[in-house]
This record gives sequence, structure tokens and C-alpha cells, in this order.
Amino acid sequence: MTNQSCALITGASRGIGRGIAVELAKAGYDILVNYAGNRQAAEETKKIVEETGRRAEIWQADVSKLEDHGKLVDGAIAIFGRLDLLVNNAGVAPKVRADLLEMSEESYRHVIDVNLTGPFFLTQYAANRMIALRKSGVMPRGRIVFITSISAYTASINRGEYCLSKAGLSMAVKLFADRLAEEEIFVYEIQPGVIATDMTSVVTAKYDQLISAGLTPQKRWGRPEDVGKAVSAIAQGYFDFSTGATIEVGGGFEIRRL
Ligand code: NAP
Repeated sequence: MTNQSCALITGASRGIGRGIAVELAKAGYDILVNYAGNRQAAEETKKIVEETGRRAEIWQADVSKLEDHGKLVDGAIAIFGRLDLLVNNAGVAPKVRADLLEMSEESYRHVIDVNLTGPFFLTQYAANRMIALRKSGVMPRGRIVFITSISAYTASINRGEYCLSKAGLSMAVKLFADRLAEEEIFVYEIQPGVIATDMTSVVTAKYDQLISAGLTPQKRWGRPEDVGKAVSAIAQGYFDFSTGATIEVGGGFEIRRL
């Protein structure tokens, strides 16, 4: 048994996933950096984590491929001896922002596979392994975080498949939180607002304009570390009596204003 807590973060090579990796490392976690194709970016995240004094290892896996899940989770446990925290962060936007009446079946299936089906079954696999690790006394509890989006409740008719995927993931949080509470595994949803990453770099001008016009009370782009800090608070146990909770990291986007 090792005393060092370990987190597996999907899509930790870039953007929000990297921001989460850095904040968790600062909180004392060793990190398994999952990535899909950009190994160089994953190496950079590993380097940044190691600069904090924590251990990081890299693992390529496509979260939409269910056959990769066992190797990913068991790989983390083989490397670190335990799995205290799973962060379902990896996600994609539609390759083309098409009107709802024009959206292709291919785009629908791709986004749902990566953003919803993948994290659902990855969580199912990881939860079973966490239960076994807890029962054998390796770790006292487990925690699981889903990075959804304000799109879980906000309609954008030019990326409906993305909104559907995040709304579905939001329900996955409630289902797993309910089922896993008795196993001492706590489950949370974080809904980022507009965060500056590669994903949003294609719509920078649009969001610059919206933010300066008052889209959110806090008139700035979110940063990956804003999301990382919320995950870190959960990881440090500050929300252990709040399983199933949703935390928005969106500069006040959710406030209805008149
Ligand atoms: P990003 O900059 O595009 O980074 C995406 C990350 O996910 C990369 O690490 C990428 O790996 C990984 N990834 C993509 N497909 C994958 C797959 N099939 N299997 C494993 N990893 C995969 O995106 P981001 O903005 O950081 O977004 C991260 C999460 O936050 C997503 O779930 C997104 O929906 C959500 N979110 C983002 C915003 C925002 O404004 N940016 C707002 C709300 C929610 P590679 O580097 O190997 O490609």
C-alpha cells in the first residue's frame, strides 16, 4: 500500500485537463495523464506536474473505445497502486457547427461516443475497481468528477449534439452519485463556462465580443486553473458531504438577470 493519492485525468494533455493536473499535483496527488493523440502535449503536462514535486505518468487511450478502458484504469492502478480520483475531462466539440436541422448522424455519434458513452463506461469500470481497492483497505474512499458544461442546460442550436452529450453526462453524475454513496465513492459535476483553450480558440472573436457585452457578470474568459481549483477542492475532501453536487465555474453565467 502506498500513502500517495493518485488521480487519473482523461484528456490531461491540454487545456482544462492540464489545468486540473497542475492543481491536483499542488494538492499532493500523483497524476496519470491520459491523452488521445497529442503525445508532445502530454509530455509537457507531465513535466509541469513533476516541477511541483509530484509523480506523473502518461497513458494514451481513446475514451470512446470501451476496449481501452480496462487497460487505462488497470494501468493507473499498476503504476500507482491505487486510484483515489477519476476526472472525466476528455471531450470534443463538433468538428462543424451545423444547424440542428443539418446536423449529421456521423457528428452526432462521434460527439456522443467521446463525451457521453466513453465516460459513462469508463466510470462504470473505474468504480468497480475503486470498490475493490476500498474493500481491500488500500484506500479509504474514492471520488469521481465529471467535467460537463453550461451546455448541459443551455441550448446552442448550432451544436446540439454537444449539448445533448453534456445533458446526458449530467444525469450520469446523479446516477453514479446515488449508486456509489454506499460504497464511499463520491461523485461531482463541474460545469465550466467559457474557458480559454484550444477548443474555444476557433470562436475567440465571438466570445470576446459576448463577454465584453455582458454575457457573464464577471467579464473575463475562464482559465483552465479556475476549473482545476474547483476539482482540487473536491479532491481535498472539502465537499465530502455533497455527493451529486454541481459546481459551475462560469463567472456567474447561470444567474438570470433582468
Ligand atoms: P481541448 O483544449 O480541446 O482539449 C481536449 C483534451 O481532451 C485533450 O487533452 C485531448 O487529447 C483530449 N481528448 C479528446 N478526445 C479524446 C478521446 N477520444 N480520448 C481521450 N482524450 C481525448 O478541450 P478543453 O477546452 O480543455 O475541454 C476539456 C473538457 O471541458 C471537455 O469535456 C469540454 O467539453 C469541457 N468544457 C470546455 C469548455 C471550454 O470553454 N473550453 C467549456 C465547458 C466544458 P489530445 O491532446 O491527445 O488531443
